[in-house]
Amino acid sequence: MKPFYITTPIYYINAAPHIGHAYTTIAADILARTLRLQGRQVHFLTGTDEHGLKIEKAAAEAKLSPKEYADGIASQFRDLWKALDIQPDDFIRTTEPRHEETVRSAFAALLKSGDIYKGRYRGFYCVSDETFWTEKETLPGPGGAKLCPNPDCKRPLERVEEESYFFKLSRYGDRLLSHYDAHPEFLSPSSRASEMKNFVKAGLQDISVSRAKVKWGVPVPGDESHTVYVWFDALLNYLAAADSKDASLWPADVHIVGKEIYRFHSVVWPAMLMALGRKLPGKVFAHGWWTVEGEKMSKSKGNFVDPLAVTKDFGVDAFRFFLFREMPFGQDGDFSIASLKRRYNADLANDLGNLLNRASDMAIRYLDGAIPESLGERDFIEREKMAQLSSAISNAIEGLDFSSALATIWSEIGRLNRLVNERAPWEVAKTDREKAGEIVADILWGLRVIGSWIEPFMPAAAAKLRSRIGSPRMPMLAKLGDQRRPQDALPQSPGRVSKGEPLFPRKA
Ligand SMILES: [Zn+2]
Repeated sequence: MKPFYITTPIYYINAAPHIGHAYTTIAADILARTLRLQGRQVHFLTGTDEHGLKIEKAAAEAKLSPKEYADGIASQFRDLWKALDIQPDDFIRTTEPRHEETVRSAFAALLKSGDIYKGRYRGFYCVSDETFWTEKETLPGPGGAKLCPNPDCKRPLERVEEESYFFKLSRYGDRLLSHYDAHPEFLSPSSRASEMKNFVKAGLQDISVSRAKVKWGVPVPGDESHTVYVWFDALLNYLAAADSKDASLWPADVHIVGKEIYRFHSVVWPAMLMALGRKLPGKVFAHGWWTVEGEKMSKSKGNFVDPLAVTKDFGVDAFRFFLFREMPFGQDGDFSIASLKRRYNADLANDLGNLLNRASDMAIRYLDGAIPESLGERDFIEREKMAQLSSAISNAIEGLDFSSALATIWSEIGRLNRLVNERAPWEVAKTDREKAGEIVADILWGLRVIGSWIEPFMPAAAAKLRSRIGSPRMPMLAKLGDQRRPQDALPQSPGRVSKGEPLFPRKA
């Protein structure tokens, strides 16, 4: 079976990584970890987008060559992923030979097929954003000037007319629409589908795919006076990485992207693939944006959240957890330290931390810290129900519905906490110590299952939890169809329950 191929966008290296990059990449990591826990083959790709005028400029400002500059930022990204417990299988850079070769050969093939042709580009250009705008898109400025429509920019635009290569996007409208209809999952979440369909139905224009002004890029094959436009260049990374590893990897199963680049991924990219005669990815999923303390993140406000600063105070696990507990993937949400702290104390320190502390204290008291080899006949916690929820949680994560997976997990943590109160082993122990032990063993079993559920989100906390309750690493309980039973989650050679530091010490 072909590995499940997951991608994030490759990140443009004109600035250091921030919460937005971390969000997408952690999402891909959670999905990858979930599938790996189910024993599936996964290939998780991320990387950096390193060509273009902005990089040329940023490098010049830093008094470095573009390549030296790119090396520096690319390693910041790599280091951040490591620090955030993100484990990609491959990291592609658009300055690597494997990528540049793919770009050259794709461009050449499309020139040959007539999908790329030479024409003249007329429009407006924002030097700061390195973006071309049509006259219709520009904002009116003083004295008849045209201004950049990017709300964070609004700088005067340059009028440009230059020779350019174009991709015949206009040729693919009907085929795109029939693909969307035949594969409803392709445009995800479904709330984004109608916008893209309407965009395509309104008629597609051919798009410029080369730049005469830009030196730092892949030269157009046979015409060194042009370089391939960064977007056309960047999108091909998914194919370049796959083809360089394993011929069976393509197509990608899911591209996870931010909504600001959805159109490129759901319209331009599939049209490029059709033109190249390659298969289309299974799904293109657009997630929403974070505001910070109620404000949009922007360079001018300088309010980008640095993930390392947050994890220094709250830990990597809490950061990973918060991003997906706080807002549904696909919608917009607000990041604030106050809400992070609230979630941390309520969900992690209280709900999960207390359950672990109570269960391990009682295991030491009523079971002498030893986990029984098998569970008793009496089922105090509805074990079958938990096994079934495992499949619901897996399904939610596979559908990239992380917040509902976490809601299910936390409702089970709440249920187990209530069960401890209701069953009150400390009362039962006064007359029936053996039964008190059985209740505690059941609660421990439930906690072990919860440990497997939280592992994709919080790998380090899951490992600590396992070591506290003497449980080896467990596969995420398989889906119902896999015919595993709850008791399969019992450790082969149970360890011992130990006292330890709180998993999430409360924050004042
Ligand atoms: Zn601009």
